[in-house]
Amino acid sequence: MTTSTAALGIDHARLALHTRIRVPHVARTLEAMDARTTLATAIECIGRDRLPLVTSLAPEGMVILDLLTRMVDRPRVVTLDTGRLHPETYELIDRVRDRFDVDIEVISPAAGEVEPMVRERGVNLMYRSREDRVRCCEVRKVLPLRRALIGSAGWITGLRRDQATSRTSTPKIARDLSNGLIWKVAPLADWTGAQVWQYVRAHGLPYNALHDEGYESIGCAPCTRPVAPGEDERSGRWWWEEADAARECGLHVLAPGTAASTPAAVAIA
Ligand code: SF4
Repeated sequence: MTTSTAALGIDHARLALHTRIRVPHVARTLEAMDARTTLATAIECIGRDRLPLVTSLAPEGMVILDLLTRMVDRPRVVTLDTGRLHPETYELIDRVRDRFDVDIEVISPAAGEVEPMVRERGVNLMYRSREDRVRCCEVRKVLPLRRALIGSAGWITGLRRDQATSRTSTPKIARDLSNGLIWKVAPLADWTGAQVWQYVRAHGLPYNALHDEGYESIGCAPCTRPVAPGEDERSGRWWWEEADAARECGLHVLAPGTAASTPAAVAIA
């Protein structure tokens, strides 16, 4: 993860971002960039104010925020307050704000969408059926994110390919099908969890206290539990659903044809 911008032919990457064309060799160039170069390229081409970091305040988000604040002053940071987060996550929001001296845009779901859902299906509808769980995620996460991204030309996310089988095709820069085809930037796509934690500890970055209690991937309180050593890191999310079902909330929809195992096919169109 040390390839330089010049060595990668950054002008080609910029060309692809600006013209929005599918160029396999440019896609390979983008894929070869390290996290810092990916972020710098995206900020230069898309614009700082139109490219928020959207984070659940997971360790990946802390790494990206640390990289971002070394590049630009007061980057835009968005987090989704579903109304069902752990107390430890709310406490972390303030610690992150203080550590990085950034404003955090805390986005809430619309009462006009939450209230009818709860009236019809109950507060804990997520346990009734997968359809109910997906509806809850749609109302508390997907729709608020869509509103938060209005006016943005892209967003930065902490997705990594080894987090789950549903994420193995995550490109570093791609179009976001579910949010108006804006850019979606995943600078840590090729990082491992161990690399992330190594960075967090080396730089003394804040993290959710629940990680010290066996939690790996942390979402909403009713839908997250600790995982046993050796278990898949996202196995504590929606654990009651079929193990082979895509355990995703709907925030991350990849463009068809993206495949990290075949870099030439990575979509940037
Ligand atoms: Fe609702 Fe659970 Fe999804 Fe949070 S993770 S929005 S509580 S279903």
